[in-house]
Amino acid sequence: ADAAELEALQHTDVARLLPLPAAETDKYRRGVVGIAAGSARYPGAAVLAVAGALRGGAGAVRYVGPAGDAVIARFPETLVSDRGPKKAGRVQAWVAGPGAGDDAATVAEVLATDVPVLLDADGLRLADPKAVRARTAPTLMTPHAGEAAALLGVAREEVEGARLASVRELAGRYAATVLLKGSTTLVADAGGAGPVRVNPTGTGWLATAGSGDVLSGLAGSLLAAGLTSVDAASVAAYLHGLSARFAADGAPVGAHDVAEGIPGAWRDVR
Ligand code: AMP
Ligand code: MG
Repeated sequence: ADAAELEALQHTDVARLLPLPAAETDKYRRGVVGIAAGSARYPGAAVLAVAGALRGGAGAVRYVGPAGDAVIARFPETLVSDRGPKKAGRVQAWVAGPGAGDDAATVAEVLATDVPVLLDADGLRLADPKAVRARTAPTLMTPHAGEAAALLGVAREEVEGARLASVRELAGRYAATVLLKGSTTLVADAGGAGPVRVNPTGTGWLATAGSGDVLSGLAGSLLAAGLTSVDAASVAAYLHGLSARFAADGAPVGAHDVAEGIPGAWRDVR
């Protein structure tokens, strides 16, 4: 790839972008992030997405979906709703998809809102491409190589062999910001024509079940706090990688450890 097309994320840029609360702020001004994730089969994905969201800077995390009991047992500060996204109450950015199974109706409802939406995992598969392109608010998609390949209709190896072209192609097709996960995470702006950001903090310790769910919650929280989709994706990838490095410190960790390490990553960046 042409190096001029790539921008490495810098510590100082990330520091400047961290959303810090003004003295006279309140939880709504800090942003409410809505998490539509989890299923009877995968309640843990909801818990991990909420875990990431609670450390991302939003003032409140609202959860909609069938894993409310598991979420509230672990994180009592979560606003759990038994209604769908449209009736759940105020939300400044939505995360849809981690562990969501086949709930296409919820994904469609979230896409119909006029706030930023992050699509991950099942949300990527269930989203109607036309509905994504028709959105007026930003959409952020966070596929790994396999999910990107499924969206593009090619083999996973093709994406792995052409990651820069693939992330751009997806950003163009969906008119969405795309974060392509992997050993080097790439972030392309909606349309895919601009420079692509590269996250330098990744580590193989992140290759563990559930770590992507933590990333989606973290990025969604940053969206709710008011960052642009490219900045939210970039800052989330940077903090997520640092957190895994600190949490692991040379030994294997689980995804919940990565979520718990996010405050330490913030302190390091600030
Ligand atoms: P998911 O596949 O959705 O669980 O997400 C996995 C997370 O781990 C993403 O943030 C990836 O970027 C990250 N990840 C996976 N493998 C690696 C690797 N070899 N090096 C760095 N980060 C990785
Ligand atoms: Mg995933």
